[in-house]
Amino acid sequence: MPLSIDRFSRSKRNRFTSVRLDRLVERRDDAEWVTRALEADDTHYVPLWRSRSLLEPDDSGTIAVYLRPGELDELDAIQPPTLLGTDDKRTYFAVSVTDAQRDAIIAARPAAEFADLRRSSIDMDAKHAGILAYAKALHYWQHRHRFCGVCGSPNLLRSAGHRMVCSNEECARQSFPRIDPAIIVLVTHGTHCLLGRNARWPARRFSTLAGFVEPGESLEDAVVREVFEESSVVLKDIRYVSSQPWPFPASSMCGFYAEAASKTCQTSAELEELRWFNCDELTQAVRSGEVLLSPPVSIAFQLLAEWFRQQGGGDLEEVVRGVRETRGDARAS
Ligand SMILES: [Zn+2]
Repeated sequence: MPLSIDRFSRSKRNRFTSVRLDRLVERRDDAEWVTRALEADDTHYVPLWRSRSLLEPDDSGTIAVYLRPGELDELDAIQPPTLLGTDDKRTYFAVSVTDAQRDAIIAARPAAEFADLRRSSIDMDAKHAGILAYAKALHYWQHRHRFCGVCGSPNLLRSAGHRMVCSNEECARQSFPRIDPAIIVLVTHGTHCLLGRNARWPARRFSTLAGFVEPGESLEDAVVREVFEESSVVLKDIRYVSSQPWPFPASSMCGFYAEAASKTCQTSAELEELRWFNCDELTQAVRSGEVLLSPPVSIAFQLLAEWFRQQGGGDLEEVVRGVRETRGDARAS
């Protein structure tokens, strides 16, 4: 299958990757600059309450709600704000808010709510979904690494939220944001692709195969091992496609296509059902409601949609949207 666009462009199409912020790495340790930037008129705060993002519905879907200087009286009630970067118009900081601050924010903006970004990002503007995902990833790391892994003393946040230092001066161990690499792979054989069903997923949900990279493995090793563990399929060719930050809670998804040596497969403890589809079969299964795919914000869907297009199936998102609209109409009538 020839690549229709380069990999960089391909990754940029994935959800949460449209963050065009200059991350201002050189400013993170400039305390004076950070203090000034925090109070500047054009600064936007990204509030996070218990890992949830502040969102509000509007006519176009869901919008990210930012707070402005003066709207929060205590920016460091939990910890110092985190510098995210600038889009040349404004500077963005992530701010962790207390329960009391959360109540005050919602009282001032009754239409807004602190909600799960994964579910809400489906109908959000790509740039703002990316900024919120970036903030959420750092927030998660900061709140789960509050103590030094060597001596157990509390960690102190440094470099405007991007580095931690152990408060025990004799230890002074530094730590940096953690990301767990995971592979996600669409296995194909000729004109067919393989989708699996995990027993824990909602009924009829099928998706690509995926798993975490283990210590001592290359990404490619992980693809071969995971596919064999989950489906007993032996691969003969692997190609990297694109990647996606996935802060649910702390992954980096690395997407691949892999060609199977044969269609022989077997279910596993993880996957209770495995099915091969060609384009027509997949279209039919989606239209009939027999198969539900992952939401389009996922790289799983993007891998599948790109394959579908290359196979001449057309726009998979349109197929899915058509099903949703038909069901919506049926409910309305
Ligand atoms: Zn320590």
